[in-house]
Amino acid sequence: MASGGRKAVVIGTGIGGAGCAALLSEKGFEVTVLERNSYSGGKAASFEKDGFTYDTGVHAVGSGELGPLGEINRIVGGDLKWAQIQGNRIALGNRVARYPLDYGSDESIYGILDGVGVLPENRDDCFLCFKDLATMKPEAEMEALETVPLKEYVDKFTDDPMFHQMVNATCGMLIVVTYFTGSTSEFIYCFAGMAEKANLSYPRGGMGAMARAYLDALERMGGVVEYSRPVEGIIVEGGRAVGVEACGRVEADVVVSNMGLQPTVRMVSDHLPADYLEWAISLRSSYGAVSVKYALDAEVVPYPMTLWMPDINDQESLEKYVGIMYPVPSIPDPDLAPEGCQLVLAGAVLSPDPKKKDLNNAVLDRIEATMSMLHPGIDDHVIWKLRTDVAYTANISGRDLGEVIGLSQDVKQIGKNRPEPRLPVPGLYIVGADAGGRGIGTEMAAESALNVSEMIAEDLA
Ligand SMILES: Cc1cc2nc3c(=O)[nH]c(=O)nc-3n(C[C@H](O)[C@H](O)[C@H](O)COP(=O)(O)OP(=O)(O)OC[C@H]3O[C@@H](n4cnc5c(N)ncnc54)[C@H](O)[C@@H]3O)c2cc1C
Repeated sequence: MASGGRKAVVIGTGIGGAGCAALLSEKGFEVTVLERNSYSGGKAASFEKDGFTYDTGVHAVGSGELGPLGEINRIVGGDLKWAQIQGNRIALGNRVARYPLDYGSDESIYGILDGVGVLPENRDDCFLCFKDLATMKPEAEMEALETVPLKEYVDKFTDDPMFHQMVNATCGMLIVVTYFTGSTSEFIYCFAGMAEKANLSYPRGGMGAMARAYLDALERMGGVVEYSRPVEGIIVEGGRAVGVEACGRVEADVVVSNMGLQPTVRMVSDHLPADYLEWAISLRSSYGAVSVKYALDAEVVPYPMTLWMPDINDQESLEKYVGIMYPVPSIPDPDLAPEGCQLVLAGAVLSPDPKKKDLNNAVLDRIEATMSMLHPGIDDHVIWKLRTDVAYTANISGRDLGEVIGLSQDVKQIGKNRPEPRLPVPGLYIVGADAGGRGIGTEMAAESALNVSEMIAEDLA
């Protein structure tokens, strides 16, 4: 759809902002992107240190090029490349199961259930539940499951403790809330979507390569990206958003914010109905995460991705260790570490509140204890180690909280209760993980970019 040279200003270069900017440019908009950081990518950025390329978070991409991130790349002519992550594992204490990419097949499900040790008498019920969760449902059925907590749904099939622990941990990994509040339909959308596409992937060059590919494509189409240029205000005139203040006025026909819903509504609070503002500010974020990034001088961890949880029957393990996800990005993409070396990212979930420093440090200590127990000798191979807390995430994304995803995908904030990307101020939209998409973290932000760019093109046609 041609846009007749309309101007768009996009605030932020997270996946949502970078993707939407490139898509709008492809639709003919004149696009200017303003980013407060000196680099792109937001929560999905990558940095270099001593020949290692590491990510802000602990990362993998649900469906790689078969999902929305790949779709944006194709539409805008980006140069993003992918590597599949094969040979994944899930472990409850010392019971370990392979987690094949097509984990929705009957053979894979039985392999996983036997590996993690569900009770023999519960095996068939657990199978039915796993199969059900790994199968996409018709839209009406998904809608009916939006407000059903995942635990309640699983309870209908089985009370097997291992199975419950596995589903809760998987919910924490995919939508970063517990299964007590996580929406069943949102979990199925993520879990079944991944099983069907069977293409868990990692972007070559690190997670930051995704936003960079979109922004490079944008610049090739004539768009402008300005770094270290924080937006201080959104200009509203005659009841419409007409640009932003960012050490000077930048005018536009449409303002697209990737700052998150709450920071955005705070900037235009005088122009919003009081009840809308109150509702928007009351929305909850997903949990946060801390991570330990290991730059190693040897290939210590032989598995590309593991989700490990302490055995719920082992009190000592529960006290000393913590459930972690630890991808080894230099296995799918060896260019991320010098030859013979290895990059390991180990992360755990906790409150997104950056003020809880002691909690952050305690969980970080447990991650290190867990990695040393699972991979004895790892500490002898450390070139450097970086501990990142939720304050680090909050600082990178420019938000008050260091949440992993954005607004949480819990039963109260999904479907008709999810914010609309069109704000009550005409000409102002939000894009990114907070609105306009579904799915896992970066893929939800990318789906939002696809949907919001279409919406804007239609609104301004
Ligand atoms: C530890 C961790 C692990 C994760 N693991 C995964 C994973 O394995 N798989 C997955 O898919 N997702 C994962 N995620 C989630 C995923 O990274 C995020 O959900 C996604 O990247 C959010 O994208 P976004 O577009 O909403 O914006 P953000 O990433 O929040 O970016 C917002 C951008 O806006 C900019 N900005 C903010 N305010 C201003 C301003 N005033 N002026 C200008 N610019 C501004 C920020 O600097 C930033 O660049 C993880 C996240 C974390 C923190």
